[in-house]
Amino acid sequence: MNKLLIVGTVAFDAIETPFGKTDKILGGAATYIGLSASNFNNVNSAIVSVVGDDFPQEYLDILSARNIDLTGLETVKGGKTFFWSGKYHNDMNSRDTLDTQLNVLENFNPVVPEAYKDADVVMLGNLHPLVQLGVLEQMTKKPKLVVLDTMNFWMDCALAELKQVITKVDVITINDEEARQLSGEYSLVKAARVIAAMGPKYVVIKKGEHGALLFHEDNAFFAPALPLEDVFDPTGAGDTFAGGFTGHIASTGNISFKNMKNAIIHGSNLASFCVEKFGTERMASLSKDEVSSRLKQFKELTQFDIEL
Ligand code: AMP
Repeated sequence: MNKLLIVGTVAFDAIETPFGKTDKILGGAATYIGLSASNFNNVNSAIVSVVGDDFPQEYLDILSARNIDLTGLETVKGGKTFFWSGKYHNDMNSRDTLDTQLNVLENFNPVVPEAYKDADVVMLGNLHPLVQLGVLEQMTKKPKLVVLDTMNFWMDCALAELKQVITKVDVITINDEEARQLSGEYSLVKAARVIAAMGPKYVVIKKGEHGALLFHEDNAFFAPALPLEDVFDPTGAGDTFAGGFTGHIASTGNISFKNMKNAIIHGSNLASFCVEKFGTERMASLSKDEVSSRLKQFKELTQFDIEL
């Protein structure tokens, strides 16, 4: 068994899309990453995060049911769980953040469970860069691969710290808008080059319904998103992608560029499920059969035979 250590928010989300509105439901970057990575064989995963004692047991049970180790999930007595609320535009590809309440995240000191200090893959999901850094510093063995995901919120309020943690990772996954903000370049090819110069050897740029790009030195690879008839709620798609990417790498233990291309496909495949229902509903009940049959669809979508 290989080990995947996941850091990120475990949250309450309130979401509004053109198809409906939810009250506080289960969300958070680590939640989506963990649920997504739970679809791979040969991987044990653990989440390092924090919640308040307002966080219901039934939400924890959803994670435990997918065999995610929660030893590193701290519960703060009398504390309030991180809360995020967002509203999607009609195109479902862009959204406005309406509210971000850090709550227990404000004073969070992550503790990596002893059994995961030698994890093979570390997924630094969206969370304060100093927490991401704090986790890396606790590793007793250099992980095979460290992947970082972040968002504009942290670029706006902790850019120096974010740049510090970026120097320490192998892969960064970031969406197109954020890649432009971080690099100051509009062209995504130029943006990837600027971001790679900050540290990561691999840069993954997520473009929502327009797929994802992987850059490494002078090589680039593109995976489309699966065209879906109905998209209800894109929340967590980026994190689900990251969970699929790292889940596949951890499952295979192979960090070659060739295998990263497959990891991008696995990430895109899993993200296609996430958006089909509100919140984590679809991911919490996903079966391995559903995942592998859609993977076949993906292969057909992207395969062509041109003689060169
Ligand atoms: P995604 O749609 O993949 O970008 O991820 C959405 C998830 O990220 C939601 O479940 C939120 O709880 C979480 N989230 C939103 N803002 C932040 C933030 N500033 N830091 C960490 N997680 C966040």
